[in-house]
Amino acid sequence: TQWVYSFGAGHNEGRADMRNLLGGKGANLAEMASIGLPVPPGFTITTEVCTWYYDHGQSYPEALRNQVATALARIEEAVGAKFGDHHKPLLVSVRSGARVSMPGMMDTVLNLGLNDATVDGLAAASGDARFAWDSYRRFIQMFGSVVLGVDHHRFEEIIEHVKLDRDVQEDTDLTAQDWHRVVDGYKEMVEEVTGKPFPQDPHAQLWAAIGAVFGSWMNPRANTYRRLHDIPAQWGTAVNVQAMVFGNMGEDCATGVCFTRDPSTGENFFYGEYLVNAQGEDVVAGIRTPQPMAESRAKPGERSMETVMPKAYAELVAVREKLEKHYADMQDIEFTVQQNKLYMLQTRNGKRTAAASLKIAVDMAREGLIDRTEAIKRVDPKALDQLLHPTLDPKAPRKALAKGLPASPGAACGVIVFSADEAEIRAAKGEAVILVRIETSPEDIHGMHAARGILTTRGGMTSHAAVVARGMGRPCVAGAGSITVDYAGQTLTAGGKRMSAGDTMTLDGATGEVFAGTVPMIEPQLSGDFATLMEWADGVRRMKVRANAETPLDAETARKFGAEGIGLCRTEHMFFDPERIGAVRQMIMADTEEGRRDALSRLLPFQREDFLQLFRIMAGLPVTIRLLDPPLHEFLPHRDSEIAEVALSLGADVAAMQRRAADLSEANPMLGHRGCRLGLTYPEIYEMQVRAIFEAAVAIGQETHKAPVPEIMIPLVALRRELEILRALVDRVAQEVFAETNYHIIYQVGTMIELPRAALTADTIAEGADFFSFGTNDLTQTVFGLSRDDAGKFLPFYVEKGILPKDPFVSIDIDGVGALVQIATEKGRRTKPDLKLGICGEHGGDPASIHFCESAGLDYVSCSPYRVPVARLAAAQAAL
Ligand code: ADP
Ligand code: MG
Ligand code: MG
Repeated sequence: TQWVYSFGAGHNEGRADMRNLLGGKGANLAEMASIGLPVPPGFTITTEVCTWYYDHGQSYPEALRNQVATALARIEEAVGAKFGDHHKPLLVSVRSGARVSMPGMMDTVLNLGLNDATVDGLAAASGDARFAWDSYRRFIQMFGSVVLGVDHHRFEEIIEHVKLDRDVQEDTDLTAQDWHRVVDGYKEMVEEVTGKPFPQDPHAQLWAAIGAVFGSWMNPRANTYRRLHDIPAQWGTAVNVQAMVFGNMGEDCATGVCFTRDPSTGENFFYGEYLVNAQGEDVVAGIRTPQPMAESRAKPGERSMETVMPKAYAELVAVREKLEKHYADMQDIEFTVQQNKLYMLQTRNGKRTAAASLKIAVDMAREGLIDRTEAIKRVDPKALDQLLHPTLDPKAPRKALAKGLPASPGAACGVIVFSADEAEIRAAKGEAVILVRIETSPEDIHGMHAARGILTTRGGMTSHAAVVARGMGRPCVAGAGSITVDYAGQTLTAGGKRMSAGDTMTLDGATGEVFAGTVPMIEPQLSGDFATLMEWADGVRRMKVRANAETPLDAETARKFGAEGIGLCRTEHMFFDPERIGAVRQMIMADTEEGRRDALSRLLPFQREDFLQLFRIMAGLPVTIRLLDPPLHEFLPHRDSEIAEVALSLGADVAAMQRRAADLSEANPMLGHRGCRLGLTYPEIYEMQVRAIFEAAVAIGQETHKAPVPEIMIPLVALRRELEILRALVDRVAQEVFAETNYHIIYQVGTMIELPRAALTADTIAEGADFFSFGTNDLTQTVFGLSRDDAGKFLPFYVEKGILPKDPFVSIDIDGVGALVQIATEKGRRTKPDLKLGICGEHGGDPASIHFCESAGLDYVSCSPYRVPVARLAAAQAAL
């Protein structure tokens, strides 16, 4: 078996599409090298070795040692230096790299191969003793913390001690001798902590580092990240060993991180940060303030790479173009400049905000880098959700307490917490929290996830907090340096104001502003790119997208987001209005049909007005109206005191009302006297609703000569007879209204398929139906025999333990509920080939469920108004 793949120096055994075997980093290093980019030579130990390692009691396959030795010799030859050589030592980095990037999860060791002898060789070969000793101390520090598990504070203490002693502020003020002293201090401390001298044999160092990378695959941070992102543990990580290049050799050296486009906005602009005379993670560690890449982005006092190192910058700009063309996607790249020579150390598809993802997809399609189909596929429908999130109201008076970097857009408001654990605890109680940290690290990920927004006082746009927040879609303000955080006192101070844990604050991740208290927010403005992508999506999707809406406001929102009609108007929501509930209750209290009809006649004008409004907003579009569905008990007051009050106001007898409430109460109302069962036993209720619908539709028809096509939906049908009787009722009332008004309109009558029996006997039910709408909320409840309202006690446990892959109320259970949908679809269409089919449960807005609906051949999905864009995009992707 080939366990090791070389890259660079003209010997590239890997490719970008080998990421499963080589990890993302290794595969892309090989790819970059093979398209002629300057990549320091190295090799990748495959992810299969990681799997082997864990399957065999943390040991390696036989052949590995030889393959590593051969690959290492190849690097030595290419670089012209020897590993462990006292005169011209080869140094390497040992880097992890899983299939998908796991930011910060795995630790990298740089400058490996240094020891007490090779450090002198490096000093002599480079002619720079300070550089050599700085590199050595970096190595001991990284190796010490990553491989030997020494607390990194112990290292910082020693540097601080030397700085204090020498009376200097900055690391850059320390001399070769000072770093030598630091190294001595480090070695002593490491020996004291680990009980062993710091390893001097470069080969022992190398194998220990390789082992540490594999070991870190199973550390708790990595496990948390994998759990949050559904990454299987079996994937394993690869290890990359690569010749070092040095960004810390002087003023003509640098290191940086950049994005080929702005990862926050998506703007086609070379975006990034770099540091002169620095190495590795210095840029993201927030120790020194990174500088901008492009001169046009430099603020006063900042020194852009474009001006400081024009030649290397120009090379990098060319690399940027080459990479974007090659990968046809926005890249996140890491580079180092050693004595004005550029080296590429990493490239990957860059993480981006929802807004950037949208803009980049649309721009790239326009630029011809990708086609429209690809653009549609590139945007995660769920990410659109983020774009529809509120931002701060620009008109609201506000005075920022502090300003940091606009690291991840969106506004967030919540109570201050200072630790990730606290964030998680309070969020679990339903509180909106803002996580405030000096800086974040991978240990904080669970808290960042739980928080509405994240604020840090240190670090740049590529700091851990910024990168992770953007990926998660959390608003983030980073590096708000004017804020001082006191973890012990649980307070922060900014602009002379002190705030404590539990106080409310607001963040604007788009501007970097931080506010005390609550700032009003507004609904998002949708960009032109949004409209463009939606248009492209609409061009390819087959299924229609409707909204579940009953109020004019919801209906208008739905139209604004592109809904093509209403898939579910729940009429009972119209009964709760304070103006009407009295009449509803009176109707329920009436002992006689006459009494009920009297109360219903008071409701009729209200219902008619409701439908008039909906039909106007949905002019020319289908509107599916479900007749009354919930049990009547829901409309009565529940507490005794309320009952008395209501009885009084209705002029009814308190005891009578109590009796009626008791009569109506059911042991299992979900399976009780509701839906069409109500319509059959109290036909006058449905008659009133149907009359209101037709009177409204006729009125619109007369007014505009464009009558709507109401789709009247009978809920909870299990038997063909139920539908037959109620359909006759609808037809009769319709004819009455047509005769009275001398106006005819077209309408449809159908049913919700929400009971297993209905699905199984759909062929007979279809005889009386013009359409089916799958009510997958109730269908899920009845298929599983579980109540949505009570499932909270065990469903999360089921999902966590993998007993159920997903919450079946969020994403449709394809094997069970989905099978019934398929059966009903097939049987229904066998009876009526042109039977219209849709879905109106919560699932109508869930991308995975929408994919299922496409494959099942439904005609439309219906979802909540805010999910309409998500559904439009998901339906397009499903059709591709
Ligand atoms: P991460 O996965 O955390 O980004 P990397 O393996 O990319 O870790 O290493 C972090 C940084 O270390 C890189 O961005 C680069 O600056 C530096 N680095 C890694 N390998 C080398 C190398 N061979 N020469 C110089 N710098 C390196
Ligand atoms: Mg890292
Ligand atoms: Mg990296």
